Amino acid sequence: MEELSWLPILMYHRIVERGARSEEDPYAVSADILEAQLDWLATHSFAPVPLDLALQFPAPGEARRFAVTFDDGYADFLELVLPVLSRRGVPATVFVVSNAIGGHADWDGGARILSRDGVRELHSGGVFIGSHGRTHRRLAGLPPAELESEVLGSKGDLEDLLGAPVRHFAYPHHSFDRSAVEAVRDAGYDAAAGGHEATHDRFNLHRIDAVRLGKPRLGLRLRGVHRRARRLPFPMPVRNLLRVVT
Ligand SMILES: [Zn+2]
Repeated sequence: MEELSWLPILMYHRIVERGARSEEDPYAVSADILEAQLDWLATHSFAPVPLDLALQFPAPGEARRFAVTFDDGYADFLELVLPVLSRRGVPATVFVVSNAIGGHADWDGGARILSRDGVRELHSGGVFIGSHGRTHRRLAGLPPAELESEVLGSKGDLEDLLGAPVRHFAYPHHSFDRSAVEAVRDAGYDAAAGGHEATHDRFNLHRIDAVRLGKPRLGLRLRGVHRRARRLPFPMPVRNLLRVVT
């Protein structure tokens, strides 16, 4: 059994302007809420780390850690989110849909997606770029050639754009099956992020949906992950964890 640390991984999608109402987009969080969440975590001794460390055990006594991820790669990320992360030294991974670069999110009301230059700018600004497929299709049940295009094809597209390896994948709509996991592994990704399903392993990293969590509840979720990580063998069902902290 592979040992996998229970690094809490926060999942965000779109970030909208400060104070903006996000009722039309249930996945959106405003930039001031994101800032308040990150500041609250810093005040409570949580240390943001790169997603890579999801696969490593913390040293004894190491600060409580968490990773931050954003799905889809919206164009306003550069303006609204990058400054928030940079000011606080928060490393983050953005999962980009390679064929949507420079276009619009047809899966999310047509919001604008980062341009090629925008993706490069994020990367050179220290943000890790992961793949979120080529077209944001559900991967479960896809024929092999289409699966390969989404998983391996998007990796090649992004690596050509960045001139750097792309090592993480996030399943669009959190949809995958055994073939999709094999495709991700065969394509050479180190790990893949899932959603808040009750499982956790290298190719389906459990993430905490930060969108609807108030700050104390966010802290409880993170503490719960760390507390369970110290006590239990891995992997284990996340529902055990949720039973403790919710
Ligand atoms: Zn997505």
